[in-house]
Amino acid sequence: MALVNCFQCAARISDRAEHCPKCGADQRIICEDCQTALPRNHHGACPECGNPTPGDVDVIEEALKPAVIVTEPDPEVVEEQAELRYQQLVEAENRDLSLR
Ligand SMILES: [Zn+2]
Ligand SMILES: [Zn+2]
Repeated sequence: MALVNCFQCAARISDRAEHCPKCGADQRIICEDCQTALPRNHHGACPECGNPTPGDVDVIEEALKPAVIVTEPDPEVVEEQAELRYQQLVEAENRDLSLR
């Protein structure tokens, strides 16, 4: 199962979902020539009329690409990691000293 962005709200949804679970937008692609609704994960020509590009999904996805999401690191995790790194440094130093 692949995840795609909702056409409307850009939520990450299954490419098999016909409707966005978040905003309810219809996720099927509509063939420009015969107006047949095709599943979002449909690739290739329209089965109804043979239109080679029934929906320009790639272009839409490009336009909807969300800006880079910066997730704030959890300060507690950062502190833990710093602590761990420090301990490793101390241990490494102790090992070095004992080798001499
Ligand atoms: Zn949506
Ligand atoms: Zn068609």
